[in-house]
Amino acid sequence: MDFEIPENLRIMQDTIRRFVNQDLEPISQKVEEEDHMPEEIVQQMRELGLFGLSIPEEYGGLGIGTLGECLVYEELSKTNAAFRSRIGTSNGIGSMGILFDGTEEQKQKYLPRIASGEWTSCFALSEPEAGSDAGNIKMTADRDGDSFVLNGLKHFITNGDVADIATVIALTDKEKKTRGGITAFVVEKGTPGFSVGTIERKMGLRGSHTCELIFDNCRVAVEQVIGGAPLIGQGFKTAMSVLDKGRLTLGASALGAAQKLLDLSIEYAKQRVQFGKPIAQFQSVGNMLADMATEIYAARQMLYHAAWLRDQDKKVIREASMVKLFCTEMACRVVDSAVQIFGGMGYMKDFPVERFYRDLRLYRLYEGTSEIQRLVIARELTKD
Ligand SMILES: Cc1cc2nc3c(=O)[nH]c(=O)nc-3n(C[C@H](O)[C@H](O)[C@H](O)COP(=O)(O)OP(=O)(O)OC[C@H]3O[C@@H](n4cnc5c(N)ncnc54)[C@H](O)[C@@H]3O)c2cc1C
Repeated sequence: MDFEIPENLRIMQDTIRRFVNQDLEPISQKVEEEDHMPEEIVQQMRELGLFGLSIPEEYGGLGIGTLGECLVYEELSKTNAAFRSRIGTSNGIGSMGILFDGTEEQKQKYLPRIASGEWTSCFALSEPEAGSDAGNIKMTADRDGDSFVLNGLKHFITNGDVADIATVIALTDKEKKTRGGITAFVVEKGTPGFSVGTIERKMGLRGSHTCELIFDNCRVAVEQVIGGAPLIGQGFKTAMSVLDKGRLTLGASALGAAQKLLDLSIEYAKQRVQFGKPIAQFQSVGNMLADMATEIYAARQMLYHAAWLRDQDKKVIREASMVKLFCTEMACRVVDSAVQIFGGMGYMKDFPVERFYRDLRLYRLYEGTSEIQRLVIARELTKD
């Protein structure tokens, strides 16, 4: 067994660590307060190639593999989660459908622009009546000659307001639904009938917007079906394979945040004096630190192993769900302990712990709730 991280990925990890400390962390509070991501910082992300992490070199990306991506997201998540969200959504769920199932023409047209950061992408699956039950979508795409006419509403779409293209999942056959009746489309901003609705007001992740997308007789050519005509009706599979991969990178993001919270908690516990000594010397505080560190260690091993398996082209449906479930639940336990260790200061907006507390709560909900991850794991364990 070799537990060494390859040299090229270590260099990448160091670069991201420096970027986080020098450029992102100093403005993390401003992004939170203004609920806005400055364009200058997005430009720096472009220059570092961060929008092409998951896109192969032949399409202009870095193609650093799943383990590499996880290491980058782990580092990026040690600051405001909005930075990771901007990069991760475009690199991840927004564009992976095109990479996995797109035609060569679609890959050539879209992936280089996404990899360079010129274009941002988003992923539009969820609807008011279809969250966990994603197969229950109501949005329709009716065939009309050489085109499809899209009608319906998507909600909770990350990056929806800044996206130049959207991967949109719609019903092409109401009878067949997930069994051949759902199709994935690429829809470009500016297509008549496609507009951004309300920007949702949320608990956290300020600086990263989540929106409604409205489709009102939006006409797209058959060429906009991801994978072209042969994949009409096969879009549910595309959507699920996109989400499988996202589960690992989301696990990495939860892990990075948890590590940051442990580091902050150790530092604080060593300098905060009560009853004449640093609180780190009280056994109950030490126990919290020990439990946080132990869970982080366990999470890191499972994440890296699952990422490595995926890089060996192994199927990781069960492992990806285990990673998403464990890492996100673990990070919420860790942030709760961090608030406890910081005492009243942990509840104040002047310290980042409070922001992490709100932001991390989302991780157990989106890209499949914890309950849905358990369903997937149980299904995988009991299938013949
Ligand atoms: C900030 C944010 C960003 C998002 N970004 C995107 C995005 O970019 N693209 C996109 O398509 N979606 C996005 N989503 C949607 C997200 O994926 C859904 O919110 C999530 O899948 C849960 O669906 P729901 O909110 O409808 O909850 P529901 O499905 O209504 O679930 C409510 C509760 O019931 C439980 N439950 C449901 N079904 C079962 C079951 N069979 N067994 C056990 N328990 C069950 C759930 O686990 C949960 O606890 C985002 C959501 C948020 C909050």
